[in-house]
Amino acid sequence: MTSERAVEDDVFRLTVATLAEVKVGQVWMPVTYFTLWMTRLMGWLPELGVCIVCGEVLRGQPVWFAAGADGVTCGPHKRPGSAALPPEAVALAERMLRRPLAELLKESWGKAGPLAMVRRFAVEILERQLERQMRSARVLARL
Ligand SMILES: [Zn+2]
Repeated sequence: MTSERAVEDDVFRLTVATLAEVKVGQVWMPVTYFTLWMTRLMGWLPELGVCIVCGEVLRGQPVWFAAGADGVTCGPHKRPGSAALPPEAVALAERMLRRPLAELLKESWGKAGPLAMVRRFAVEILERQLERQMRSARVLARL
């Protein structure tokens, strides 16, 4: 109960901090920051630096993720339907998890590039987890 409430507090703080930084012409970094942090706060963000199959450290390499599978992998262990997150997108995601949004917004960010890749990655994680929860809800409803 206590930890659930702590997550709600964190989500609330994240939401307020993000909304404070959304301005016309400056939307994509806050949206992506929010989405990525949501995956972390909910405990759904995989470890980005290590292949979940062989344990290889993936620093400086693309990591592969698949919507239906846990973790990320190296190239040789990529799963069907995987998409690559290139090293510059992994580096950006790690930076976004370490630095405050206001600091990141001192740079200008377009809609495309590594930021778009991080956003797609985080959105896929959220969609997958929500779909899982909706499936469990449907199963429960049939009991
Ligand atoms: Zn591997």
